[in-house]
Amino acid sequence: MQYEAVIGLEVHAQILTKSKIFCHCSTKFGEEPNSLTCPVCLGMPGVLPVLNREVVNLSMKTAIALNCTIARFCRFARKNYFYPDLPKGYQISQYDEPLGLNGYLEVEVNGKPKKIGITRVHMEEDAGKNIHENIPDGSYVDLNRTGVPLMEIVSEPDIRSPEEAKEYLAELKKILMYLEVCDCNMEEGSLRCDANVSLRPVGQKKFGTKTELKNMNSFRNLQKALEYEIIRQREVLEDGGIIVQETRLWDPKREATSSMRSKEEAHDYRYFPCPDLVPLEINDEWVERIRKTLPELPADKRKRFAEDYKIPSYDAQVLTSSRALADYYEECLRFYPDSKKVSNWIMGDLLRELKGDEERIEKCPVSPKHLAGMLKLLDDGVISGKIAKTVFEEMYKTGKEASEIVKEKGLVQVTDTSEIEKIVDKVIEENPKQAQDILNGKDKVMGFLVGQVMKESKGKANPQMVNEILKKKLQVKK
Ligand SMILES: [Zn+2]
Repeated sequence: MQYEAVIGLEVHAQILTKSKIFCHCSTKFGEEPNSLTCPVCLGMPGVLPVLNREVVNLSMKTAIALNCTIARFCRFARKNYFYPDLPKGYQISQYDEPLGLNGYLEVEVNGKPKKIGITRVHMEEDAGKNIHENIPDGSYVDLNRTGVPLMEIVSEPDIRSPEEAKEYLAELKKILMYLEVCDCNMEEGSLRCDANVSLRPVGQKKFGTKTELKNMNSFRNLQKALEYEIIRQREVLEDGGIIVQETRLWDPKREATSSMRSKEEAHDYRYFPCPDLVPLEINDEWVERIRKTLPELPADKRKRFAEDYKIPSYDAQVLTSSRALADYYEECLRFYPDSKKVSNWIMGDLLRELKGDEERIEKCPVSPKHLAGMLKLLDDGVISGKIAKTVFEEMYKTGKEASEIVKEKGLVQVTDTSEIEKIVDKVIEENPKQAQDILNGKDKVMGFLVGQVMKESKGKANPQMVNEILKKKLQVKK
């Protein structure tokens, strides 16, 4: 039987605020355990949480960007469960009255656009962390993360393959980064992803029993875990077995999922409205104020770049992969309007130097103006294409302008005919066999001789002139 995967993703994104969601403690990562705590986030009895307005602003910004309807009235709920890293015995989250509802995110799968529904965007607090490593007897609890604000972004079960899941998460990450609402550092846990996966026979409407996958902390792990789980479920079904609704953990070392616990139902959490927090009333004016802070989103930017700058959609995709890189590109065009040439240099040499990490563009030692300056030298024939590569590397190393480097290193292209003639003569003399081959009609050897001249001139000879002079000289011999 042919099976189809049905996948929904739940993404937890740490909201980029300086202080926690219900107290003034800092949200900094990697500090001394329990140093960023107070009676509120320690869960002491009798304390009262106070909602951080910025958390609402940034969550609303995200929900708007994800095309959600913003609830004019929303409420926090207590999600009750007992775990050592949750001293209150409950997590403050949102349940049946979340902030954002019924949105969507558009991704591109195999060159075709696809809308993936967003069920909800809600706010909640993070829990602490149990530490078991390197502790001989027992465990420690670090409560620095309790009360760190999170957004939970839940998709509809519209995803049909691990690749689609990856595309969805990649686009979501890009949007969060553009909005500057989350730093999306997956290693530090500021972007975490769980998935619900089930299989059903192709053509069937009803969903199969799902399992929940946890602990996928990278794109690679997300994809591998989903691939593994789909195969596991298919084998169970093909053997006539049934899928048990449960939570499974992905183990990246074993590259396998294993059962963690049978799945809680919502009623296991005994949700009820949090009595300590007043319901949140949101008026139109507030929503509009936040809507105005939205930047151009990645999909719009991609489209505009391809249309306005007449660059291939692949280029537009790469150049808009981060807001900073897109800004860099547009800044370059202010000084040098050939959009494709600039794109080529950024996608090639520049990203190579940045080791492909487009987010590091902010610290790039080559400013847009300097890159434009180098392209002008290239156009004016002051440097050759080959020298330009060297000059660019040097610009990256030193942060200097191209013209300065060219002057310092004597890299000016040789366009002096007599100088090039001298080198050509020498090369013909040293390579009599090849010269004879050309005279006998083997044109392919031409490239070799040009290469020799370029080498002899240390790349500084103007290649066009070399070509012409070589042809002329050989013609004479004929
Ligand atoms: Zn606190």
